[in-house]
Amino acid sequence: MKQVYVTRNIPEVGLSLLRENGFLVDVSKKDGVLTKEELIAELKQKPYDAVLCLLTDKIDSEVFEAVPNAKIFANYAVGFDNIDIKAAKDRGIIITNTPGVLTDAVAEFTIALMMATTKRLIEADSFTREGKYQGWDPDLFVGSELKAKTIGIVGVGRIGKRVLHHCVKGFDMKACYYDLNRDESIEQEYQAQFFTNLDDLLRQSDIVSIHVPLLESTKHLINKEKLSLMKEGAVLINTSRGPVVDEQALVEALATKKIRAAGLDVFEFEPEISTGLERLPNVVLTPHIASATNEARGEMSKIAASNILAVLSGNLPLNQVN
Ligand code: NAD
Repeated sequence: MKQVYVTRNIPEVGLSLLRENGFLVDVSKKDGVLTKEELIAELKQKPYDAVLCLLTDKIDSEVFEAVPNAKIFANYAVGFDNIDIKAAKDRGIIITNTPGVLTDAVAEFTIALMMATTKRLIEADSFTREGKYQGWDPDLFVGSELKAKTIGIVGVGRIGKRVLHHCVKGFDMKACYYDLNRDESIEQEYQAQFFTNLDDLLRQSDIVSIHVPLLESTKHLINKEKLSLMKEGAVLINTSRGPVVDEQALVEALATKKIRAAGLDVFEFEPEISTGLERLPNVVLTPHIASATNEARGEMSKIAASNILAVLSGNLPLNQVN
């Protein structure tokens, strides 16, 4: 009987799929992220054939060593920056992700952060709850509209493209984008302007939304210098990965009002939040929940399980990344 280790409880649908296909499935009993030592100890318990892991698990050669039979590590996420892809490749271990099924969840969440920042929703909610509301006031929490503003999408892949769609079709915004690859269909459908240079996008955009994966080349893609190029009054939204933004530089830019606001679902040192960020009223902070919809999480569970099913049945998985 093939054996699968799952590093944290996930929606039942994927686990059932594995069990129905005759696999023995062990799910971590810890209510939280396993430390690397705990994960290694768990994996050494049985000769597991596959591991279903999460973005909070750091998977490197020491982890691979603990589970020599494993043919696949199926990541329950789109991003796979938590896994040492080269070490996996060297050992012939297949790595898969769950692309596509969380595109709508993340794109909608990105719009929610745009709305929360430009309409100052969280500040206004806190103010109201604290009993400070004394009556209608012409100066109270004046924000800005999205209509006719320019959205700048950094990384126009699945999620970036969907955000661009909502902005243009839903809010009549103008759009521009920066990516390693030009996508002329976007330019035709949304009259989006393509920039080969990130600096030009930053100078033009009222709202900048980041959707690149975390890679060596995208770490601190948005740093102090890049923030200084943004329009005064601009808003930065990041639902990709925290280290794409130099968080300390962002704290400074927000504190000095170099940019007006930011909406962040991901953090450079998460779950730690850079000092000062939590005290700024002009930033909306959420705990990496952009994909947290019942719809997306169920599909992620199914896809991760299907990738394991395919590999352990001698077939190619749908979503191999290495
Ligand atoms: P995708 O691969 O479809 O799109 C990524 C885009 O970034 C591609 O168009 C690619 O060409 C571009 N890109 C890569 N390197 C670049 C660079 N150096 N400069 C400019 N562009 C570059 O991925 P996706 O499905 O749209 O997901 C994007 C990212 O969102 C994921 O990698 C993941 O890290 C993040 N994500 C976060 C959450 C969350 O819960 N907050 C959920 C899902 C995905």
